[in-house]
Amino acid sequence: MLSSFASRLLDALGPDVVRAAPEDLAVYAFDAYSEDKLPSAAIVPHDAREVAIAVRIARECGEPIVPRGAGTGLCGGAVPSRGGLVISFARMNRIVELDVRNRRARVQPGLINLDLSAAIAGAGIFYAPDPSSQKISTIGGNVGTNAGGPHCLSYGTTTNHVLGIEYVDGNGALHHTSIDDSGYDLTGLLVGSEGTLGIVTEVDVRLMKLPEAVRVCVAAFTDVESASEAVSAIIGAGIVPTALEIMDALITRAVEAHYHAGYPENAGAVLLVEIAGTHDDAAAGEAALAAIAREHGALSWRAARDQRERDALWAARKGAAGAIGRIAPNYYIQDACVPRTRLPEVMHAIDAIARDHKLPVGNVFHAGDGNLHPLLIFDRRERRQVEAVVAAGTEILRTCIAMGGTISGEHGIGYEKRETLSLVFSPDDLAAMGRVRDVFDPMRAFNPDKIFPSGAMCGEVKTPAALGTATA
Ligand SMILES: Cc1cc2nc3c(=O)[nH]c(=O)nc-3n(C[C@H](O)[C@H](O)[C@H](O)COP(=O)(O)OP(=O)(O)OC[C@H]3O[C@@H](n4cnc5c(N)ncnc54)[C@H](O)[C@@H]3O)c2cc1C
Repeated sequence: MLSSFASRLLDALGPDVVRAAPEDLAVYAFDAYSEDKLPSAAIVPHDAREVAIAVRIARECGEPIVPRGAGTGLCGGAVPSRGGLVISFARMNRIVELDVRNRRARVQPGLINLDLSAAIAGAGIFYAPDPSSQKISTIGGNVGTNAGGPHCLSYGTTTNHVLGIEYVDGNGALHHTSIDDSGYDLTGLLVGSEGTLGIVTEVDVRLMKLPEAVRVCVAAFTDVESASEAVSAIIGAGIVPTALEIMDALITRAVEAHYHAGYPENAGAVLLVEIAGTHDDAAAGEAALAAIAREHGALSWRAARDQRERDALWAARKGAAGAIGRIAPNYYIQDACVPRTRLPEVMHAIDAIARDHKLPVGNVFHAGDGNLHPLLIFDRRERRQVEAVVAAGTEILRTCIAMGGTISGEHGIGYEKRETLSLVFSPDDLAAMGRVRDVFDPMRAFNPDKIFPSGAMCGEVKTPAALGTATA
């Protein structure tokens, strides 16, 4: 029996767009963090007009609305925690306009990140934000979370590459923003708003010229602390490579066993460095970086010889989370930041926290940005381990805050971290953010239970029932 809400959607948009059968809705009940609740209905629209119609119907029926990209989010942002309507952008996945001379494109939100760069590579240009999930995550989802990635060290995160946004507001009206507009920067406000301010239906993105030369190098260290010291020294010397990534011994071994990319398997930690620019810049950059790495204890330094080797090293690094499946049934990825100079200290602290909770931990992270991703390894069938993961995850966040850092580098707040937002913002700050939200979505129907603390457990992390579904 269809709900009156689903019937109204079907009448307005037709069976090609609307999904209401439980077996069709099951795929929208979870993201890469958690599994929660079936929505009452989902739509797979062709265009912004259909999105606006659905938003108006949901508003009249008092139903919440959750926009969804590929569902790779790691904080429960795309989960319909109160049921309602899910809007999937799987069908709105085209490049609408490409302007090579001005290096910009207008794209639909369901376009897969890597598909954009693949489609324009022939013109010598690319889209810079490159989350490790880029083979599957969408531009709309990346805008929702302000996604980062290994190359964001020098290119910046998604917000630095969005030039304008078309979105549907809480009343079902369509708007367009541009960074060229005078007045408030509404484009910047929408990026990272995790679907709570508007439903993004088109994105104008900045494209960049492919560099003349790229070098990808791997340095082996005895431990993560010394690799982290080298990262601080590199940035301290005023050199900003395009990427500076660290993997510890556990992750390096898992990755190498899976991908055979040429990482030194016996290293205590590896530093993956990319330098881009002219041929001369890249050669000089590599020489300078290799010297600093050696001064800070690098046991070896190796440059990939050709594109095939470069691609293999990156494919393995970006596939690190998947490779953990070789060693454990479940993992939980934490996402937090510290000032780069505190990296050695925080790595030591994370190790101690994991030991206290008797959990194996692997570290793979965007070291150049001070953006940590400890992977706590566990088995969700063991209740003690699930509780230990939640407690250790919270301790890691508190440690990062105490070191002058913050609770998310790139994955967002979503459902998972909403209670911890009050660790970094005062009630007045949160109330001000709430008032901004009300301007865009007065009914607070867009993505409820996301970002904002419930208020019931200020400063604590709730044990989400679904923790542990982040399977490897
Ligand atoms: C293996 C793995 C590696 C990852 N690596 C990285 C990484 O390196 N860097 C990084 O930043 N993240 C990473 N992530 C996390 C995730 O891929 C990103 O958060 C990504 O931006 C989510 O995109 P998505 O299309 O899957 O969006 P979803 O997960 O579907 O949605 C993410 C958020 O955006 C909102 N949203 C989606 N579409 C719209 C829209 N059209 N309008 C408004 N809001 C919308 C959703 O409501 C939700 O709040 C990784 C995830 C995995 C599983």
